[in-house]
Amino acid sequence: PVRVRFCPSPTGNPHVGLVRTALFNWAFAKHHQGTLVFRIEDTDAARDSEESYTQLLDSMRWLGFDWDEGPEVGGPHAPYRQSQRMDLYKDVAAKLLDAGHAYRCYCSQEELDTRREAARAAGKPSGYDGHCRELTDAQVAEYKAQGREPIVRFRMPDETITFTDLVRGELTFTPENVPDYGIVRANGAPLYTLVNPVDDALMEITHVLRGEDLLSSTPRQIALYKALIELGVAQQIPSFGHLPYVMGEGNKKLSKRDPQSSLNLYRERGFLPEGLLNYLSLLGWSLSADQDVFTIDEMIAAFDIADVNPNPARFDLKKCEAINGDHIRMLDVKDFTERCRPWLQAPFAPWAPEAFDEAKWQAIAPHAQTRLKVLSEITDNVDFLFLPEPVEDEASWTKAMKEGSDALLRTAREKLEAADWTSAESLKEAVLAAGEAHGLKLGKAQAPVRVAVTGRTVGLPLFESLEVLGKEKTLARIDAALA
Ligand code: GLU
Repeated sequence: PVRVRFCPSPTGNPHVGLVRTALFNWAFAKHHQGTLVFRIEDTDAARDSEESYTQLLDSMRWLGFDWDEGPEVGGPHAPYRQSQRMDLYKDVAAKLLDAGHAYRCYCSQEELDTRREAARAAGKPSGYDGHCRELTDAQVAEYKAQGREPIVRFRMPDETITFTDLVRGELTFTPENVPDYGIVRANGAPLYTLVNPVDDALMEITHVLRGEDLLSSTPRQIALYKALIELGVAQQIPSFGHLPYVMGEGNKKLSKRDPQSSLNLYRERGFLPEGLLNYLSLLGWSLSADQDVFTIDEMIAAFDIADVNPNPARFDLKKCEAINGDHIRMLDVKDFTERCRPWLQAPFAPWAPEAFDEAKWQAIAPHAQTRLKVLSEITDNVDFLFLPEPVEDEASWTKAMKEGSDALLRTAREKLEAADWTSAESLKEAVLAAGEAHGLKLGKAQAPVRVAVTGRTVGLPLFESLEVLGKEKTLARIDAALA
């Protein structure tokens, strides 16, 4: 049975890279009817926070993910927060020391730095040099007498490590490139290098799908796994698949600190979880060459880790917005109407709730659905319906009101007054006729009308908008623009 895990550290706000990793693990688990384990890697007290943990869970739920084991749902390997599993790690570290797979290292930071520099200067590998691998009792006694506090270091076997990455194919690491590494701090705190694979072992993880930044830790973990199997702690080495880097602006790795990578931002802007996930799935994967827009169920049905492209993926906000817009179009209109609510309320809509009018909202919503890329755009697109007067935006006004606009507006007002206000088509005919009278095509003729009535140069389909606003208000606004 497939058992995968998603194991973020609760540091800072969730970012899109993290969501992409969660998505691929979740889709992989669902595709194989496997188990998704959600584990919290909170062993770094200095950087982890409870707030970040709460936010992580909230984000996962908002995105629509579920997990079979983990926080809030429990499971046979509870607890799922590493901060509550310290005894387990200490126990494993002791076993590794006993069996000689790990040793105490007394080197000070200065000593390590000096020797690293020297190795570098000599053009030799600059990782840990094995200094404390075979200390004699006398040497240990002397270090102790000096008051040195040792760390615990894992003893890498002297052998080449080869594994088949699920995304990248066969990879080989030679021993000089994978030095012995620390697994427990001098203060006794186990390190990520130990707790992450130990938990994967204890939780019987079969597939590790994670970011490429962790690729260099994989040979170390495989060696550790072999030791754990020998000690009866692990049953099998999992398969590994490393997901490609995500590149942002200027072809630089998208960083956690990039505003573009903050999940909260997408949420505030009104991305649909399904739209965002659709786009994020394309960062390294695709359903087919000619279909960018699909549902999460389609993704799950088709997802194969072997199809993931190892090359860096480019994050393209415009495309992300376009795909989200397509998902907005795919919503049932009632669903759309409801999902817009937060942006029709304070603090986004300062005019709400006093000026909000439910009937007008219901009437305009289907037209809004045809235009939005993100839900937050709804606020500015419908405020003309609720504000006593259209917003004053000088730039829009200057842009739309050209010479001759007054004459056009006067004719338009006349024709609109005589039009059938139960039909947007009739309102369109009116503005079309006004344009013809002044030698203007519809696009040019409707611009001043739009600004006069809505205050903006772009917006929802105009004639439907006028119809919902109503004859009286529309004409009054044109009068005001002419005054
Ligand atoms: N906790 C690690 C991180 O947030 C995940 C490591 C892994 O997936 O193996 O980067």
